[in-house]
Amino acid sequence: ESLSVGELAKKLGREPSEIIKKLFMLGVMATINQELDQDAIELICADYGVEVEEEVRIDATDLDTYFEEDENENTADIKERPPVVTIMGHVDHGKTTLLDSIRNTKVTEGEAGGITQHIGAYQVVVQGKKITFLDTPGHAAFTTMRARGAKITDLTILVVAADDGVMPQTIEAINHAKAAEVPIIVAVNKMDKQTANPDRVMQELTEHGLVPEAWGGDTIFVPISALSGEGIDQLLEMILLVSEVGELKANPKRHAIGSVIEAQLDKGRGSVATLLVQNGTLNVGDPIVVGHTYGRVRAMVNDLGRRVKSAGPSTPVEITGLNEVPQAGDRFVVFEDEKTARQVGEARESTAIQEMRTEKQRVTLDNLFEQMKQGDMKELNLIVKADVQGTVEAMAASLMKIDVEGVNVKIIHTGAGAITESDISLAAASNAIVIGFNVRPDVNAKRAAEAEGVDIRLHRIIYKVIEEIEAAMKGMLDPEY
Ligand code: GDP
Repeated sequence: ESLSVGELAKKLGREPSEIIKKLFMLGVMATINQELDQDAIELICADYGVEVEEEVRIDATDLDTYFEEDENENTADIKERPPVVTIMGHVDHGKTTLLDSIRNTKVTEGEAGGITQHIGAYQVVVQGKKITFLDTPGHAAFTTMRARGAKITDLTILVVAADDGVMPQTIEAINHAKAAEVPIIVAVNKMDKQTANPDRVMQELTEHGLVPEAWGGDTIFVPISALSGEGIDQLLEMILLVSEVGELKANPKRHAIGSVIEAQLDKGRGSVATLLVQNGTLNVGDPIVVGHTYGRVRAMVNDLGRRVKSAGPSTPVEITGLNEVPQAGDRFVVFEDEKTARQVGEARESTAIQEMRTEKQRVTLDNLFEQMKQGDMKELNLIVKADVQGTVEAMAASLMKIDVEGVNVKIIHTGAGAITESDISLAAASNAIVIGFNVRPDVNAKRAAEAEGVDIRLHRIIYKVIEEIEAAMKGMLDPEY
């Protein structure tokens, strides 16, 4: 922060000439328009016996600021909130079946007559407590939302088919959850099958850091059959147990904030968005800013297709009343009055295009050293893909040995095979660089990397990879030609 001599004089209620004189006595020659640095400002103020208070300015159009903790909040209003759960796992391992089965067995309790409505998330009641499930399974949706800034999920259920074991997308899912620091409960599915081999699943997952409690680890494994319903009650109980440990809290009395689960344009109703309330209570009539659009909540419908007037923490609701269609993962904030909401909404709308261009700079090997110097980077996240598993491991081991003061190399995901869109979305969400050894990005990955500004480095010689990363960390990377 700097002030000119004139501005400082005004703030202190003095004549500029007086300030200039004082500066002169301190050995600083200044004119009325001269900018003063913090030190000079403090010296002058000290001389007048005035304390300099750092002016804290919040940018009203930055929705993130509304998600920061409010120290002045009345703690008596803070209550337990339901956990928000995502289901991940390899294709065909039973994610959709499990989501349907949980919903069908639990949703009707006390809600007879409700017709389930797919709005992108639903709630069930277990032992008098609610649990919210996002009903788009898979880590792609999860990470896309995370890349847009939404931190929605409290807990991940990793579904692994007992007759198939750990598969590539199982490992992807683990790494996506780990990168987001979301706890994992393992559901060993298809236990009804003759060929089910849960020991093998436990063995294989142990190799990926998920060690069952029975074997001295701390990961909960629940054998289930999504098809027959066996084990689902135990799974739900475990979700409640893990959530209790997490002490999930929210304040239902404040204005609502949260994230968009999905949104689309409806011919009759206009912009329709499913919002997950993450804190506070959302009410019909609330002035709201959602991503780069805004409006007033016109109508709200819950996951049973019923109209509701309000929605508390961890509740998903479908709303209408927005000017435009927001995107999944966008944040929303409710404002006190419509005027402020409109002002913030309009400001965000007009800066949207500009923001897209200057979007938070992603790490690349070329700007790595700069970011390290600024102290923004304590960890360099890498995703390593190679043609064969042996090479992946060899590369990961060498990369982890790189020792440059101030920064750790952290490998957040590895795999054999081409660089995929999922690798890119993980990189974007975790600010990582992707290294490909004897592999290339596929078409979708290439497009995604360009759109997201993710740095991909392709190599054919191992020591070159190490050399390049090391050089970048030391600020000695040769410019690319
Ligand atoms: P997703 O791709 O992970 O969503 O998997 P789905 O839920 O679509 O399931 C894939 C196939 O596995 C379907 O044919 C399901 O009926 C079947 N399936 C899912 N769960 C079970 C189970 O517990 N037991 C058996 N036998 N089959 C299951």
